[in-house]
Amino acid sequence: MRLAEVASIEHDPASALDAGLRCLNCGHLAEGKFCPDCGQSTRRGVPTIWDLVSDALNAAFSYDAKLWQTLSILVRQPGKLTVDWVEGRRRRYIGPFQLFLGLEAVAFLAHRVFFSSNSTEIDLKTKALTIVGVVFTLGLAVINVRLKRKMVEHWVAGAHIWAMLMFVLSLAYIVIPVGSGALQRVGWVSAKFDPGTIITPLVQGVMVVYFPLALRRIYGLSLGVACIETVALFSLYRLVAFVIETYLFT
Ligand SMILES: [Zn+2]
Repeated sequence: MRLAEVASIEHDPASALDAGLRCLNCGHLAEGKFCPDCGQSTRRGVPTIWDLVSDALNAAFSYDAKLWQTLSILVRQPGKLTVDWVEGRRRRYIGPFQLFLGLEAVAFLAHRVFFSSNSTEIDLKTKALTIVGVVFTLGLAVINVRLKRKMVEHWVAGAHIWAMLMFVLSLAYIVIPVGSGALQRVGWVSAKFDPGTIITPLVQGVMVVYFPLALRRIYGLSLGVACIETVALFSLYRLVAFVIETYLFT
C-alpha cells in the first residue's frame, strides 16, 4: 500500500472498514473504552445528561484521589514520588511542578490569612524561597554529579523536596498561630509569645530529618552519605538565605 493510501485511511473516520472502531473526535483506531490517541471515550451516540454528570464527578474524584495519594506518599515515603516519576509511574500522581506550585500557593495563602497581611513581605518571601529552591536543585546536581543522572531528575527531586517544604510551611502557618492563640486565651502561653519565632526552627527541624531520607531513596545513597549531603545542602541553603536577606531585603 502506498503511503498516501495509508494516510488517507488513518485520517478518514468514516472508513467503511472499521468506522465502528474509530474515535469520533480524531479518527484514530480505538478498540478500548478510550481513544489511545486523544483520550476521548469511545461511547457512541450523543451522551445523556447522566453521562455528562458522571464524567464531571469522575474527573473531580479522580483528581481528588490523585491529590490525596500524592500528598500521602510525599509525606510518608520521602523520595518515592521522584523514584516513581523516574521509573515511569507518573499518571497516578500530581506532576512535580504542579504539586510544588500548588503547595506554594497554599503556603502563601495560609501565611496571608493566619499570619500576616503584609503582602509585600509575602511576595518577597515567595521570590526568595523560589531562588533558594533553584540554587538547592543546582546543589543537588553538583553534589551528585558522580551518579550521572539526567538534569531533569534533579529538577524533579528538587520540586518534590520543595513541595514537602511548602506543605510543612502551610501546616505551620495554620496550626501554630491558631494553636498559640487558643493557648494564650486559656492562659497557658504568655500573651507576649510571638508564634513567628518557632516556625523557622520547627520547619527546619522537620526538613533536616526529611532531606537525608529523601536523598537516600532518590539517589540510592547510604544513610551516612545522605546525612553528609544534607549538611552540605543545608549550609548552602543557609548561605543563600543569608545573602538574599542581606542584599534583597534591605
Ligand atoms: Zn481520538
